[in-house]
Amino acid sequence: MKTALFPGSFNPFTRGHQDIVARGLRLFDRIIIGVGRNTAKNPHDNADERAAAIAELYAAEPRVAVQVYDVLTVDFARAVGADVVLRGVRNTADFEYERQMADVNRLIGGLETVCLFAAPDKVEISSSLVRELQAFGKDVSDYLPSAGDVSAGD
Ligand code: ADP
Repeated sequence: MKTALFPGSFNPFTRGHQDIVARGLRLFDRIIIGVGRNTAKNPHDNADERAAAIAELYAAEPRVAVQVYDVLTVDFARAVGADVVLRGVRNTADFEYERQMADVNRLIGGLETVCLFAAPDKVEISSSLVRELQAFGKDVSDYLPSAGDVSAGD
């Protein structure tokens, strides 16, 4: 059984993240969504609330689990028995960042990373864009996940 850890801040979890999970479910038996808690960056980090909202989204999908973590990703991956890290790549900036993280995780933890390219219709979606639009009172429902669309689908 292959288990992938999909780690991230997910602040918030978007349709782009949802698409990576749906496509990941075609490649792996189980996906653990690891919500990183970063109290160093934000003392009021509400990772538990974010994780609870994501868990609700996947309540009917037994192959997806959601956990908050605040240790190194390689240590968390080992603790939960994940074989690989799953990540998404939208552009060259993501690519360089992901390549570097993947190198580090392989070097320090022997952990491999599988990156999926963002779907063309999701490539512009980012958590920071959603936060920015929300701050100005804009409707962000197009970017946030829809409960009906959570499994591997087609
Ligand atoms: P982090 O803070 O660790 O970068 P994020 O929550 O921003 O975490 O993103 C988690 C992962 O999802 C990253 O690999 C990121 O590149 C990927 N991702 C974010 N948005 C999208 C999207 N629209 N399509 C595909 N992958 C995405």
